[in-house]
Amino acid sequence: MQTIKTDVLIIGAGPAGTVAGALVNKAGFNVYVVEKMKFPRFVIGESLLPRCMEALEEAGLLESVLQQGFQRKTGAKFVRDGVICDYSFSDQFTDGWDHAYQVTRADFDLALANGLQAQGVPVHYETSVTAIQFREDGSSITTLVDADGQEAQVEARFIIDASGYGRVIPRLFGLERPSNLPPRKALFVHIKDENRQMDDEPDRITIVVHKPDVWVWIIPFATGITSVGFVGSPAFFEKYQGTDEEVLRALIADEPYIAKRMEGVAFLWEPKVLQSWSVTTEKFYGNGFVLTGNVTEFLDPVFSSGVTLATVSSQIAGNLVVRHLKGEKVDWEKDYTEAMMQGVNTFRSYVMSWYDTSLHTIFFAENQDPEIKRKICSVLAGYVWDTSNDYVKDHETVLHKLARTIKLRDSISYINSGFKNEEDK
Ligand code: FAD
Repeated sequence: MQTIKTDVLIIGAGPAGTVAGALVNKAGFNVYVVEKMKFPRFVIGESLLPRCMEALEEAGLLESVLQQGFQRKTGAKFVRDGVICDYSFSDQFTDGWDHAYQVTRADFDLALANGLQAQGVPVHYETSVTAIQFREDGSSITTLVDADGQEAQVEARFIIDASGYGRVIPRLFGLERPSNLPPRKALFVHIKDENRQMDDEPDRITIVVHKPDVWVWIIPFATGITSVGFVGSPAFFEKYQGTDEEVLRALIADEPYIAKRMEGVAFLWEPKVLQSWSVTTEKFYGNGFVLTGNVTEFLDPVFSSGVTLATVSSQIAGNLVVRHLKGEKVDWEKDYTEAMMQGVNTFRSYVMSWYDTSLHTIFFAENQDPEIKRKICSVLAGYVWDTSNDYVKDHETVLHKLARTIKLRDSISYINSGFKNEEDK
């Protein structure tokens, strides 16, 4: 069996794997990237956040992405019962990017992988990891199998596991742990969006509150195609009978914000279903490896945080791996796990506040405080590491406090109005 020697083996060539590969290669170390699939391949996760652009920039992968002419995304729009709350990233509190992109992931991930290859790092497609043995010094022997069933071994000083939903190291070494978020399901499709002008600006994601715990994403692409998906509890979907296409058409017909615009539109493929995606791992690093991207923890799609957490985790980990290879002592717990959990836990608080509806109270309140809106906007832009923002630093408490204050204010104004605006209650 052939044995390949490398400094770093990277498992997976999605956003996490390519960013990590580019950073380690840039520092002058050998990188060997294996990817189970042949690209382009479908994956969901089409709405990016401004913070992820910084990671792509540092990795030298930005140009390759910009050349694709993806739809520019300048904000996020939330809709409930016809009331609109619009966030524009140019208003955000944190200094940073004021836009991102809405991307078909097959094209985006291929652009990243091609960008990495242009930097001199080949991506070995249709090559899967089947076994890993770690030695005491952290180096490892990994067994690979290619599309023809040919086996090879890679001897690496370090492994970056960026295998996304493949979760290679957590599965091989029993590190998977359940998430504290309840299971959710998504049913989604790409449509030919001929009536786009009826409702939506193409330059932002729209999130529609369909029921308190069911929401819809609308992500327009530059091509006139739009991604539409419903997310809710598995029990919610059980109320609908029929094929996935029939169920999705019935859901669209039931949601006034999109019913007319999307009535009878062409679905470009049979709708897809994903469910119970929230999962975490016992640890994010070990002797000779680090996990980045979705392998570490994936929360929920509502704030489009996945690709940002994937690329930023690889940005942080890639630079730490370089320091480790140079012989420097790395405090993985502090510099990686704690840093990542700062971002993950901020998004977790926002996700939980979305589903317990505190965030609905905040988003759809009248007379919103512009300074608070700017701070929340930074979180929606992915700047969840800026602890000078109290809507990041105090994420566990600040949203519930604000929602309570808004409810109290509204109750007082209701009383002061002589109970006149009861229908608004
Ligand atoms: P991936 O993109 O999954 O890449 C991992 C790669 O590893 C894959 O190409 C895979 O083939 C490869 N691999 C797996 N196993 C092996 C193996 N054994 N050997 C070799 N290679 C292997 N995120 C957003 O940012 N915006 C959104 O709008 C958004 N919407 C979402 C909607 C839903 C319903 C869900 C479930 C998720 C959504 N996400 C979104 C999250 C997003 O899909 C992920 O967070 C993102 O793709 C993670 O990137 P990654 O590089 O970690 O993993």
